[in-house]
Amino acid sequence: MERTTGSIDGNHYETVIIGAGMSGLAAGIRLAYFGKNVLILERHNAAGGLNSFYSFQGRKYDVGLHAMTNFVRSGTKGTPLGKVLRQLRLERESFDLSEQKGSRIIFPGVELQFNNDFELFESEVIRAFPHEKDNFAKLIELIRSFNEVALDNEETSARVEIAKIIKDPLLIDMILLPLMYYGSAQENDMDFSQFVVMFKSLFFEGFARPFEGVRQIIRVLLKRYKELGGQRKMKCGVKQIILDKDQVKALELDNGDTITADKVISSAGLVETLRMCSDHPTTTGNDNIGRISCMETTTVLNKEPSEFGWEDTILFFSDQAKAEYACPKNLVDPRSGVVCLPNNYQYGEGRTLEEGFLRITALANFDKWTQLPEEEYQASKKEWHQVLLDKALHLLGTKTIQDVQPHVITTDIFTPRTIKKYTGHLAGALYGAPHKTRDGRTPIKDLFICGTDQGFLGIVGAMLSGISMANLHILQPSS
Ligand SMILES: Cc1cc2nc3c(=O)[nH]c(=O)nc-3n(C[C@H](O)[C@H](O)[C@H](O)COP(=O)(O)OP(=O)(O)OC[C@H]3O[C@@H](n4cnc5c(N)ncnc54)[C@H](O)[C@@H]3O)c2cc1C
Repeated sequence: MERTTGSIDGNHYETVIIGAGMSGLAAGIRLAYFGKNVLILERHNAAGGLNSFYSFQGRKYDVGLHAMTNFVRSGTKGTPLGKVLRQLRLERESFDLSEQKGSRIIFPGVELQFNNDFELFESEVIRAFPHEKDNFAKLIELIRSFNEVALDNEETSARVEIAKIIKDPLLIDMILLPLMYYGSAQENDMDFSQFVVMFKSLFFEGFARPFEGVRQIIRVLLKRYKELGGQRKMKCGVKQIILDKDQVKALELDNGDTITADKVISSAGLVETLRMCSDHPTTTGNDNIGRISCMETTTVLNKEPSEFGWEDTILFFSDQAKAEYACPKNLVDPRSGVVCLPNNYQYGEGRTLEEGFLRITALANFDKWTQLPEEEYQASKKEWHQVLLDKALHLLGTKTIQDVQPHVITTDIFTPRTIKKYTGHLAGALYGAPHKTRDGRTPIKDLFICGTDQGFLGIVGAMLSGISMANLHILQPSS
């Protein structure tokens, strides 16, 4: 039974977690499992945070989930997915994961295929870049031996480190693009530890998706949390973290109530959390607000993508040999992006999604989108949807939009404005702050960060972050 009361003296908890995203839910499960009196506070009425879903005109859309990275097959030892399942005491079958069919990285004149068997990617790199065969082997050796999760790793540039080994700039960009798109808060680069995390999670491990999408994972996490007696309050945001000197004293909620806690773990973001603290100026962390945000369009079709000849699961593309991954000058930069076809997973005999989905993600400028008056905002959404759709169809080999248009049932679009609204992330920053707090500590005693700004990204990464921070700061605080 989920505890409805059970706080120590009415409004005091051992641990309060801010946010019911993947990291907050995982931290909550871990603490509830060990009998802690834990409360999750979430500003919205839906759990999942960046990886959630919404209903629009009777249809459920996934936000976030293109692919669950870090997929490994049953029995593979020593990987993040196994650790998450073990630490949360969950059966892997409960996520109902199906593997990708296959994906591609497309640059001008060259493409690399990959799937959940690393050998394919390795052979593709050697085929397209034979002159880099030995260097690529050296890079792989370095990645395999690197401890990317050590909390005291120094921040270093992945570009600089890779360029010490790989000489062809095109190969460097082709390797980096998907990893940046799925987990870099920095423009045109990423921290080397983060690079290794992402390389392993995309290329050594791989992509999978629950048949029912992200709601399957959220449902499992909520059920587990409830079974263990964890408490949560939805539509209940934290307005202010009240400090006594440099220690958490209480939390003031959006509805004016006050609660107290021995320790607080926040998944709201590093800068966002510090700005919630009383006495902290609203300019705190101005130099650590992420600039990477995106627009995503979903086209719903009355046919399976494979009926149009589209067999890929995910495409990462760049129109230029030197890929651009930075906040664009215009509303959207269509020169690079990600195309995702959620139908193209190996769901098994007789299991097909009811409709076809084509999702396209491209980088977008938060300031420009938020400055638009409402009418222009709506018109720009439509305009950019068309630009991105044309682009995706071209990549997928469909010559004219007329082949597809009659099969379009509906479309939906989100922008950086939507990301800010539903997650609270400043500047609609997809992957939060460029500089993370890897050990989760803040300058405030008993206030810790988990999730995006602790530095483990993606669904599995965020859950692992919640688990690690709960273990480190609450369950084994002496370490
Ligand atoms: C467009 C997009 C596509 C993505 N695609 C994928 C993908 O395909 N595969 C993948 O593995 N990962 C993907 N990710 C990344 C993944 O979604 C995130 O890394 C992960 O979900 C982050 O989880 P989190 O718990 O750290 O933070 P969040 O999901 O941001 O959760 C934080 C929660 O805190 C709440 N909150 C904030 N402030 C307050 C407050 N003051 N009071 C109460 N509650 C508050 C928010 O409402 C939110 O629910 C994607 C992300 C985006 C945005």
